[in-house]
Amino acid sequence: HAVDEEASARAAAARVDSGAPTIFDKIISKEIPSTVVYEDDKVLAFRDINPQAPVHVLIIPKQRDGLTELGKADHRHEEVLGRLLYAAKVVAEKEGISEGFRVVINNGASACQSVYHLHLHVLGGRLMKWPPG
Ligand code: 5GP
Repeated sequence: HAVDEEASARAAAARVDSGAPTIFDKIISKEIPSTVVYEDDKVLAFRDINPQAPVHVLIIPKQRDGLTELGKADHRHEEVLGRLLYAAKVVAEKEGISEGFRVVINNGASACQSVYHLHLHVLGGRLMKWPPG
């Protein structure tokens, strides 16, 4: 089962912050298609390919600039971090979920981060439970 082992090694490698380019670079360059719901000079918001709620949008900085995960944030990222959070509010309004929505950042393997290009999940359109899993 060398093939299985290779596949699981690849999957494990993808779950750690290696600093390698990610699939989101190809989404930014439009090499991989996505459904964009909001875009400005700094951020891009598009629908998650595997939605966990009726509305599930990812918001990313167009320039990763070392922001593989929130834990790598530096003072130079303060502006873009604010822009990302404000974009979450704009997306919630556009999607008609302002009344109740959740913003999530999974940071690191033990929090189930799988793509190492900082992203906010905006989730809504159903009753959200607490605590999350
Ligand atoms: P994480 O698990 O890192 O917090 O979130 C990564 C998210 O990216 C997942 O919810 C996953 O479904 C989404 N995703 C991964 N690859 C693609 C893709 O090619 N297109 C889109 N639209 N979403 C993706």
